Amino acid sequence: MLVDSHCHLNFPGLADKVDEALALMRTNQVTHALCVSVTLEEFPQVRALAERYPNIYASVGVHPDYPDAGEVREDELVALADHPRVVAIGETGLDYFRLQGDLEWQRARFRAHIRAARRCGKPLIIHTRAAADDTLRVMREEHAGEAGGVMHCFTESWNVARAALDLGFHISFSGIVTFKNAESLRDVAKRVPLDRILVETDSPYLAPVPFRGKTNEPGLVRYVAEEIGRLRGLAVDQVGRITSDNFFRLFNIKDHAIQVEH
Ligand SMILES: [Zn+2]
Ligand SMILES: [Zn+2]
Repeated sequence: MLVDSHCHLNFPGLADKVDEALALMRTNQVTHALCVSVTLEEFPQVRALAERYPNIYASVGVHPDYPDAGEVREDELVALADHPRVVAIGETGLDYFRLQGDLEWQRARFRAHIRAARRCGKPLIIHTRAAADDTLRVMREEHAGEAGGVMHCFTESWNVARAALDLGFHISFSGIVTFKNAESLRDVAKRVPLDRILVETDSPYLAPVPFRGKTNEPGLVRYVAEEIGRLRGLAVDQVGRITSDNFFRLFNIKDHAIQVEH
């Protein structure tokens, strides 16, 4: 069994073929997926997917790459997270690659998410790009470790991974780990403790080799797990079991076995 810990099933490219995507999940033994929000506007779509499909979960949050989304209120996040299918807060974090200038609003938004996660006891899905030092600083200042969570689509150095691990966070690897030029990321993937590793697609983006450039989908997380297996000397089934256990434990999901029966 495998779990895709981060996808965007409601995005163009996937939204009109959700049933096909679920079929490929079954073919590739991907039992569950977490569909991640990027704005509060599209959150109802994400929640609707999780309400409709017993093996799809939802998160609520506003991505740092959406400057027009405005101020995100902690109270609103807490209220929206109060739903049995919403298992996480995010994605949130800092991105100094896509946006430049005064990004204090990004840090304020990130802080609101961390406070909301601590209040509702749900873990954080953290996006960080070209902003590792500030991401870790804000995480420490806001005691993000109390909520826990995952550094998603990880592309940073071992030092950043170790700092996040020290805060109690998990590290999630995407299809990037299969890319030819990702040697240093593969070195990180060899070192993260097995009880802290997750796998994800971030679909519809970042399709793994040999599908690079195509529309990604949750079923292709199998190729990410195969690469982690190669790096760690494990069979894909073992990687699947370990990363699925980590996923259900981190997101506090206890009824997943029943859902697979459906
Ligand atoms: Zn992201
Ligand atoms: Zn994402």
